Amino acid sequence: MFGYLHAYSYLEPMINSSENRCDRRAFDVAVAGGGVAGIAAAHSAARRGARTCLIERYGFLGGMATAAMVCPFMSHRSSTGQPLVAGFFEELRGRLAEMDAIVENSFDVEALKFVAQEMLLDAGVELVLHSWVTGVEMRNDSIAELALRTKGGEERVAASVFVDATGDGDVAFSAGAPFQKGRAEDGAMQAMTLKFDIAGVDLHAALEWVKANPDQVRFPKIEPGTDIRQMLKGVVSIAGYYDLVKQAKEKGELNVPGDLVFFISRPRPGEVVVNTTHIGMVDGTRSEDLTRAEIEGRRQMMSLMRFFRDCAPGFESCYLARSGVQVGVRETRRITGEYVFTAEDVEAARKFPDAIGRLAYWVDVHSPKGEGYTRGEETTRRLAPPPGDWYEIPYRCLLPLGVRNLLIAGKCVSSTHEGHGAIRVMPSCMAMGQAAGTAAAIAASAGVSPKEIDVEKLLSALREAGALV
Ligand SMILES: Cc1cc2nc3c(=O)[nH]c(=O)nc-3n(C[C@H](O)[C@H](O)[C@H](O)COP(=O)(O)OP(=O)(O)OC[C@H]3O[C@@H](n4cnc5c(N)ncnc54)[C@H](O)[C@@H]3O)c2cc1C
Repeated sequence: MFGYLHAYSYLEPMINSSENRCDRRAFDVAVAGGGVAGIAAAHSAARRGARTCLIERYGFLGGMATAAMVCPFMSHRSSTGQPLVAGFFEELRGRLAEMDAIVENSFDVEALKFVAQEMLLDAGVELVLHSWVTGVEMRNDSIAELALRTKGGEERVAASVFVDATGDGDVAFSAGAPFQKGRAEDGAMQAMTLKFDIAGVDLHAALEWVKANPDQVRFPKIEPGTDIRQMLKGVVSIAGYYDLVKQAKEKGELNVPGDLVFFISRPRPGEVVVNTTHIGMVDGTRSEDLTRAEIEGRRQMMSLMRFFRDCAPGFESCYLARSGVQVGVRETRRITGEYVFTAEDVEAARKFPDAIGRLAYWVDVHSPKGEGYTRGEETTRRLAPPPGDWYEIPYRCLLPLGVRNLLIAGKCVSSTHEGHGAIRVMPSCMAMGQAAGTAAAIAASAGVSPKEIDVEKLLSALREAGALV
């Protein structure tokens, strides 16, 4: 049923020769990057019968959600509670729930790595781990092969259709697709954050303190008479400790930007994930900037550990459980596609005839200067759709200009700096991944480019797979 696009069927003899078998492989769909977008893409392509591989530089899946410990899944509902993302995302949540590894939207990192791997293997995806995509070989305006760097040297992967889910648009960049970085005025990108888990936390004591000191936190605001034990059954999210932070900073004992600390509970009792470090003016495509961010992020993390242990009620016996394998990178290249998603689309709750995803998340841009969370932010107006409403993401955002057989999925899709601030969150990355993988399988099956597929066929395939489009 599937075949190579006519332009590079020349590859077949090489692939079939036993001499080349181990270092040159061929697929209908090759997905680069195993973050949440890539796993959704590979799963969806394989489910439609495409011979699919997923190439990942690390030895595990999840991307920012595991390697950078990002949690929770940001809201996938409208402000009135209507679900906006389902399909693959819902299936993943179900598998996590079977392992008791998710509470509301907060999940266990190790469970996510395992569940993602098993879902892809069940669907028939070939995993190609420990492999960096380092370049592409072009045939006219199509990608013929990806070049991978492995411990054994260079390997090659050929496919009819490719999905770039590297988060940085590495494949599209190598293929010469146009892209943008950062904000319009100076190209500066969102700050990076090294996230880490703390264990041994007495959340009951922490919430009792919050209840007694409502002026010291942005959230949660706990009404008198609230039973803290009931709160502990759900996700606990605390942002604040204003005076304690101020005092520790004045004494030189806390060295992080911003006026507050912020964390959220994990499903395991007594564990929280901290989202407070900020490193500004860094570019996640430059190794010298990433090096600086890792060093600075780890310094901020250790300073925060001291603060929590010495100053925060409920944290007296806490310890550092684990930190990200890498610093969290919110934004790098945004590959320019047939439509560029904007903040105006968010505010206008814009709908599109080729919509492949819905969301109501606001334009959440962390100051590129790395100033961290400030008290003043509380009063800043958020760019968001009207209450109860949502916006849609068009399929055209996944179609890069200039490269015929490539789709983009996840945080590097076509958007402005502000538009990206809204759609970069994990539920929409999974919706985009599901759409990209489904479209890639349809295109490979029909022997056409993703730009030429029947969009109605894509939308009905997505609906059949449970997606809300
Ligand atoms: C600090 C921080 C906090 C955030 N907070 C939240 C939050 O609370 N809730 C929420 O929903 N979202 C949050 N986000 C956003 C969200 O986590 C990301 O936008 C989303 O996870 C991106 O998914 P992705 O699959 O597009 O990219 P990534 O997760 O970046 O995945 C890309 C994958 O590709 C691999 N890769 C990259 N380059 C190559 C290559 N050349 N060859 C092979 N493999 C490669 C990477 O190792 C990675 O596995 C946050 C992000 C950050 C950084």
